[in-house]
Amino acid sequence: MTERLRLMAVHAHPDDESSKGAATMARYVAEGVSVLVVTCTGGERGSVLNPKLDRPEIRDNIAEIRRQEMATARAILGVEQEWLGFVDSGLPEGDPPPPLPEDCFARQDVDVAAEALVRVMRRFRPHVVTTYDENGGYPHPDHVMCHKISVAAFDAAGDPDRYPQAGPPWQPLKLYYHMTFTRARVLALHQAMIDAGLESPYQEWLKRWDDRPDLSHRVTTRVPCADYFPVRDDALRAHATQVDPDGPWFRVPLEIQQRVWPTEDYQLARSLVGEVPTADDPEDDLFAGVRDSVLSR
Ligand SMILES: [Zn+2]
Repeated sequence: MTERLRLMAVHAHPDDESSKGAATMARYVAEGVSVLVVTCTGGERGSVLNPKLDRPEIRDNIAEIRRQEMATARAILGVEQEWLGFVDSGLPEGDPPPPLPEDCFARQDVDVAAEALVRVMRRFRPHVVTTYDENGGYPHPDHVMCHKISVAAFDAAGDPDRYPQAGPPWQPLKLYYHMTFTRARVLALHQAMIDAGLESPYQEWLKRWDDRPDLSHRVTTRVPCADYFPVRDDALRAHATQVDPDGPWFRVPLEIQQRVWPTEDYQLARSLVGEVPTADDPEDDLFAGVRDSVLSR
């Protein structure tokens, strides 16, 4: 019997797995890869972002509702999913921003918090792990913390001297960062909308882009997954409190997205196998260099 390939995607909140790398996961699931989403927090401090559902009885039960939304999304994506059990930090707003709540994920000690993830890594034994870059993809404290514990766990999970109580060592072979929102992609979709005579949802975003670093030069890996964009959108819509179905997320017709940018993009951050791809010569498979050695075992 051959061993199955295994992919672990570490995310901060329920819904992040459906907006970053979801089509990639759906594609790998269809190809027989075992995929586990690890959700660090319950999203307890998230706002209701869908105006149609912004009601007191929903706001009061947001934690339980988000668990149900996650259950629907994971069934749509065909992935397994586990909660790491940390508490959402909330997105601090104001100038200066208020201090983060005492109990929250982002205020935990990184080495202590990483143990929970090491434990899951050693049990699931992923070959490939995905997470956010050092800026969290966007500056939510839980996303930055998700990055920190993912890197810490990747580096510790294979070391028998680290967290000896957290299970037998297992070293994942590759670590990737999501590079979903590159300027090149947003610009390409924006232009395609204009060319099609449609209103682009990215006008304001592009105007404000000067304040933000572009990630295009960091992309080493482009995974073709356009056939799974509809699955991704269904999973995202399952997080009904977190996304407005009439909002900008769904405004670019699928046909345009599939034609203009048919990949989800990543940066290879750590690799224990093979050659390291570059932005000039990207690879197209998260399991490149892993596939052959695992499947021939
Ligand atoms: Zn999030």
